[in-house]
Amino acid sequence: MDQTDQIAQLRTSGFSYSTFILFCAVVAATVVGIPLYGYYIGYTLFDWIHFFVMYIVTGMGITVGYHRLVAHQSFDCPDWVKRLALIAGGWALQNSALTWGADHIRHHARTDTDEDPYNATRGFWYSHCGWLFYYTPHRVSKYEIRLRRDPVVLWQHRYYWPIVASGLILPFCLGFWWHGTFLGGISGLLMGGLFRMFMVLNSTFTINSLCHMVGAQPYGTQDSSRDSWLISFVSFGEGYHNYHHTYARDYRNGLQWYNFDPSKWIIYTLSLFGWATNLRRLDSSKV
Ligand SMILES: [Zn+2]
Ligand SMILES: [Zn+2]
Repeated sequence: MDQTDQIAQLRTSGFSYSTFILFCAVVAATVVGIPLYGYYIGYTLFDWIHFFVMYIVTGMGITVGYHRLVAHQSFDCPDWVKRLALIAGGWALQNSALTWGADHIRHHARTDTDEDPYNATRGFWYSHCGWLFYYTPHRVSKYEIRLRRDPVVLWQHRYYWPIVASGLILPFCLGFWWHGTFLGGISGLLMGGLFRMFMVLNSTFTINSLCHMVGAQPYGTQDSSRDSWLISFVSFGEGYHNYHHTYARDYRNGLQWYNFDPSKWIIYTLSLFGWATNLRRLDSSKV
């Protein structure tokens, strides 16, 4: 740890009560509100489709926007594509792309050490979500420097909370518009907003926890990262985590064409329209 990091740690170490309270509020509203509404009023097919579409959009905002575009620069794209991806990612309530990206770059640089924000050697719950409640040096760090040069990333950081709010207001409005009642708006808020947020959060958390504990290590044993095709089905292709840790700048996490990796398919499809360029990929013969 260099001197800058040590100073940052002195300034920022401790328990984050505000994050803990926000986290508990989201969990409580989800595990209580979703079943109660379903029991007393019930959800329609529209509500489930609403949930599923928002789940995919937000999940891809994280995997394509936050992870592969911002944190790893695995492809380039026009600013309007980046803005849309970072709005979708912001709806996931996982911090701004600036903070998320800096945490993630540190995770790759310091995997399995005290400097790894989601250090999996500290156990399942810490790496899954416990790490969120602690101010650690990764909150103010040298890992932000490259990200701060990107005006779109700074724009998203500045407007992060309005973006989060738009990810709840939009589902309420869609529910209200479809059902024509205030209660319909609440069903939209619950399914397209809260439940979707809860599921995407757990999808991302699973990469940090289970993908460092369960699965094979076909590409390297330099750290605890593992490949799990099963986890790819709930994480938009990010389950191939051992390959990802070994060749982090590849825009694919699932190397083989048959690996379930919708994020790489979206990036490739964008490239067909010129909306993604310079897709970085490792020559397969070198693997
Ligand atoms: Zn990892
Ligand atoms: Zn990564």
